[in-house]
Amino acid sequence: MTELLLRNVRPMGGAAADVLVLGGRIAKGAAPDGIATVDGAGALLLPGFVEGHTHLDKTTFHQPDWLVNEVGPRIIDKIDTEREWRARTGHDAGAASLAMARAFLAQGTTRIRSHVDVDTSGGTRHVEGVLRTREAMAGLQDIQIVAFPQSGILARQGTESLLDAALAMGADIVGGLDPCAIERDPVKHLNIVFGLAERHGKPVDIHLHEPGAMGAFSLELILERTRALAMQGKVVVSHAFCLGDITERERDALLAQMAELGVGIATTAPASRPVPLVAPCRAAGVTIFGGNDGIRDTWTPYGSPDMLERAMLIGLRNNLRRDDEIALAFDCVSDAGAAGCGFAGHGLAPGARADLVLVEARSLAEAVVARPPRRLVVSGGRIVARDGILVA
Ligand SMILES: [Zn+2]
Repeated sequence: MTELLLRNVRPMGGAAADVLVLGGRIAKGAAPDGIATVDGAGALLLPGFVEGHTHLDKTTFHQPDWLVNEVGPRIIDKIDTEREWRARTGHDAGAASLAMARAFLAQGTTRIRSHVDVDTSGGTRHVEGVLRTREAMAGLQDIQIVAFPQSGILARQGTESLLDAALAMGADIVGGLDPCAIERDPVKHLNIVFGLAERHGKPVDIHLHEPGAMGAFSLELILERTRALAMQGKVVVSHAFCLGDITERERDALLAQMAELGVGIATTAPASRPVPLVAPCRAAGVTIFGGNDGIRDTWTPYGSPDMLERAMLIGLRNNLRRDDEIALAFDCVSDAGAAGCGFAGHGLAPGARADLVLVEARSLAEAVVARPPRRLVVSGGRIVARDGILVA
């Protein structure tokens, strides 16, 4: 069923209205006779949420036992621990990603960008698993796959050709990782990443955890290559922690270049690190959007497949208190997420894909801070979940 009339709903917390869905899209005009109708009873209507940076393949969310986390403090500890754990347990990325994707859908997320590990111990096994999940979720949820060299490219001979294979088998985006701090040869690493992007005609999304001047240097190299290859609008920097711990003048100079080149920022807004703040990014014209990063995996026990929760955490980290500011936090998991990831037809305007979420809240700000249960989730005009339970 891709035809539907939602009666008495309040789009984005505004005045009550009826919303018509025809052919899986939001439509204008009179509802045809006999169309399936849902009484919204004045509930708040939101567009389907966008998860802009997660790792569907890594999660232990679906497993019966709690994963006891004993990982060391450095990023390299987390990388090594995970690789060993994956080899030891034979972690099934297909089952993990499917469970996580379904949990996201039940909570209203209809679009996901997932980084997926590619390395010399797992090969392209995780990408194959998430490709199966994408197939299983087709029509219900859009999943973008980033071929992500979690263990680095340079230190492990053969990773570049595995990335090449992952892109050939259907990964959408070329990933990268800390060109200085992990790879220790930023020019070589970024030339491989952008070379793969050029060969495959695919966008780039690079994990950049590097702090301060080191991260700013890597970012400059990313911007140089974006310009040289005319990849405007096709590059995302994930985390970009460095933008939170350089001077405002240095930050603003980098943001101005990012705006000019259409380079977006994916943020998880962690409490534990300096972060690029939402307000100066938006003021500079840079698209900044939200994601959980990993959820209940060997990196972190935290995270949840609930993008209203992520919007709240972005709001808290950015000290967003006013209702109009909290709307910006929500935008990070909505319009900005769709724009940053390149998901077309997002929103509540006529012609948009009918991905819709109905919640009991008096305002958008209340929906973010209270994270009420999802009364109804619609994807492409089909009802896919009621009261947090999948029906499709
Ligand atoms: Zn990540």
